[in-house]
Amino acid sequence: MDPPDRWPPSRTTPRPELLAAAVETLPGVGPAAGRKLAKLGIETVADVLAHRPRRYEAPAPRRAVSDLFGEEEAVLEVTVRRATARRRGRLHVLTATVFDDTGEIRATWFNQPWLEAKLVPGAAVRLRGRPNRYGFAVESYDLDPSSPGDTSDHAPVYPATEELAQKQLRAIAAAALTFARAGGETLPAGVRAGERLPLRADALWALHRPRDPGEAETGRRRLALDELVLLQLALRRRAAEREALVAAPLPPPGELVARYREELPFTLTHDQDRAIDEIDHDLTLATPMQRLLQGDVGSGKTAVALYALLRAVEAGRQGALMAPTETLAEQHFLTIEGICAVLGVRVALLTSSLPVREHARTRELAASGELDVAVGTHALIQRDVSFADLAVAVVDEQHRFGVEERSALAEGRSPHVLHMTATPIPRTLALTVYGDLAVSEIAMPPAGRKPVITAWVAEDRSSEAYQRLRRHLDAGRQAYVVCPLIEESETSVAHAAEAEAERLQHAELAGYRLGCLHGRLKPAERREIMARFKAGDVDVLVATTVIEVGVDVPNATIMIVQEADRFGLAQLHQLRGRVGRGAEQSYCLLVSRARDELTETAVERLQALVDTSDGFELAERDLEIRGEGQLLGARQAGLSDLRFTRLRADRDLLERARAIAEVVEGDELLADAVERLLGEAEHLGDS
Ligand code: ADP
Ligand code: MG
Repeated sequence: MDPPDRWPPSRTTPRPELLAAAVETLPGVGPAAGRKLAKLGIETVADVLAHRPRRYEAPAPRRAVSDLFGEEEAVLEVTVRRATARRRGRLHVLTATVFDDTGEIRATWFNQPWLEAKLVPGAAVRLRGRPNRYGFAVESYDLDPSSPGDTSDHAPVYPATEELAQKQLRAIAAAALTFARAGGETLPAGVRAGERLPLRADALWALHRPRDPGEAETGRRRLALDELVLLQLALRRRAAEREALVAAPLPPPGELVARYREELPFTLTHDQDRAIDEIDHDLTLATPMQRLLQGDVGSGKTAVALYALLRAVEAGRQGALMAPTETLAEQHFLTIEGICAVLGVRVALLTSSLPVREHARTRELAASGELDVAVGTHALIQRDVSFADLAVAVVDEQHRFGVEERSALAEGRSPHVLHMTATPIPRTLALTVYGDLAVSEIAMPPAGRKPVITAWVAEDRSSEAYQRLRRHLDAGRQAYVVCPLIEESETSVAHAAEAEAERLQHAELAGYRLGCLHGRLKPAERREIMARFKAGDVDVLVATTVIEVGVDVPNATIMIVQEADRFGLAQLHQLRGRVGRGAEQSYCLLVSRARDELTETAVERLQALVDTSDGFELAERDLEIRGEGQLLGARQAGLSDLRFTRLRADRDLLERARAIAEVVEGDELLADAVERLLGEAEHLGDS
């Protein structure tokens, strides 16, 4: 192994401040575009460079107008004779007669009214599109044919939004590319030469402006390797920090968990039992447990999590259950409250909506040790609660780690931590990506479940979906209607849900008993509605995404999701997990606008849900569609996301990254980069 100081200092000094600058500092990007970019998670110049194309346009031949044939995609270089615009319903149609030496043709654009002013007679344009019976349907164009961008072969196709066109994203990416060198070189020259890697800046150019697909892929893999090396370095550092932590081992399983098993209305599955064995083993050690429990929606993770908490309680110590949002914390509380009461375990919910006095009282109980288990958001529990003796913490779907370890460290002992996630990745991969995090997996759901049948229904046929739903109700079953996701305040979401319940009550669902569940209800109100739904006194629950997790009514067998295209894939999968919990066949009907009105990614998401109900498969499809790896391990290590890595395709890179990380451990520039990443993680954790 070469010591780091033998590598020639061939790397340029990085100027990360240039990359950290806001996107609005790029030429041509104003505040409006900035807001739209923010919706894609793009805030800085670096984010633009890390916005990986989903794919590239295929090459298209350049043709003369007279040589166009069939519906073959082609490129024309032509001159505008005249252009006219008109409206067809909601559509703005722009038609231009264009010509070259061989003939003329009518080219058509949809919904681009601003273009009319550019298509003046005599203007030269380069068009890419397909001939059809009306002329030439334009897919992309360049107003300066001498430097083709959008119409060129292998032009990047970015993850976009409805508001932000490809053309705009491409222009922004081109502007950001001028800063490609500011990131400097992450890997030492020795490693780069040994691995035959292109320069990082060249890789960025290749990613955004490839001459052919091979070049793009080589660039992407170089960038993926960079981020995987950083991930491995960060994981190694975390692992070293963790080894220094001390936890108090727990005595072997006792009477409380034995009673818990008896009180459960079911027997634990083989996978649940195995996860419990693994947890029991960790709890006997003097280093804190750091275990990931992964299992699909409905696989029964909560039963395992509660077991771990009860292990703390029976040892006379305390447990904490932390969720990413208040609503999810409340759901968890509702799920475990009943059985805790039966077992004589004192559990309390801690949320910011609690009256001040109650809040203070709960904190006192936690601090005095009179409270056995606290349930709340990650932020609240960390900030407000000091436990008398916290032994086990369960962290649900929480991607921002690190802080709880540090705060606990101050008192000398760290709790055993169980992380839960419903976004599973294959175990072999998990071991590499999560580094030292131990993984337990619940692969098989409880027996007797039938996979939910999912159908995609166009909006104009939604009455049929409700007809189907009423048939279930008439057969004595129950149902969910999920209201559209709107990106405003929780209050306006709640109002919209109430209005929709009201509307349905007088329209499609007249005569049935409806309840409405949303995030603005008081916990007591919400509990009451849930209790009535569980008892069968409510037929249909009209709800926002608050039902995503924890709601558990086996008699509910059908769900309609309105405007399903607005939801993320993982979110829809979670929502769908609310049905199919009993022995009956269940259905999930995804209602959306017509297929050709949706973005490409929305179509892919909905199709993926129709195609499979397997969470592993969906998690991978989701990663592919979003083009990013929102991996627990990455977050844990302080990387916000993996931007360039494609998990399935890049397994070999993971191995290489591990080997490289070992060699470059002491490298200073890399250490700086890792510092920055971890610094970022702390900052995130504080929010
Ligand atoms: P997850 O948290 O993994 O999404 P839950 O823990 O909420 O799943 O469990 C989903 C449903 O399955 C709940 O109704 C739960 O009571 C039930 N369940 C859990 N374990 C079993 C089991 N071993 N047998 C039967 N039902 C189970
Ligand atoms: Mg759950």
